[in-house]
Amino acid sequence: MPNGGPDNCSNCLHNRALREAESLGISGPVAFIKHSYCSLRGVDITRPFWTYCANVTAHRYRSDERPRGPIFSSGLYEGYVRIPWHDDTEPQIEVPATCVLCGREVDSGITIEDDEVVHGFCTNRHYVEWWKGHHADGRIDSEAFQSPEERFDSNE
Ligand code: SF4
Ligand SMILES: [Zn+2]
Repeated sequence: MPNGGPDNCSNCLHNRALREAESLGISGPVAFIKHSYCSLRGVDITRPFWTYCANVTAHRYRSDERPRGPIFSSGLYEGYVRIPWHDDTEPQIEVPATCVLCGREVDSGITIEDDEVVHGFCTNRHYVEWWKGHHADGRIDSEAFQSPEERFDSNE
């Protein structure tokens, strides 16, 4: 089980790969990942063991439930942290990026696609700062993540 927490899509009955494992003939993790699809939110889940949301349910599946809050991915490692998706778009983690906020070029950053434009970020914090410019969600605080100075100074 990933240390990022058991409350992930691999344990959620909204994930069709779990709910319909038998009829889909799923017998291992490769097939499980391939078939992971959130029927509540209508999105493919590419990393089911590392994706989360407040609707996760292992026991009380209801097909008429409403989505609560964003989907989250595991962010860049600074301890296990979760960063929100941009609506139905999953952030790409640990990819080369040039940060649109500070201009840093990093080998292991974050990118997100928005209106067919790909934006890059050096850190979880700068990604979440950008995200908050697009989503009014007071529960998510960019200050909770490492600043670029903390992240890169500690790696020198
Ligand atoms: S996104 Fe949320 S509701 Fe959908 S499968 Fe994952 S944990 Fe379940
Ligand atoms: Zn940056």
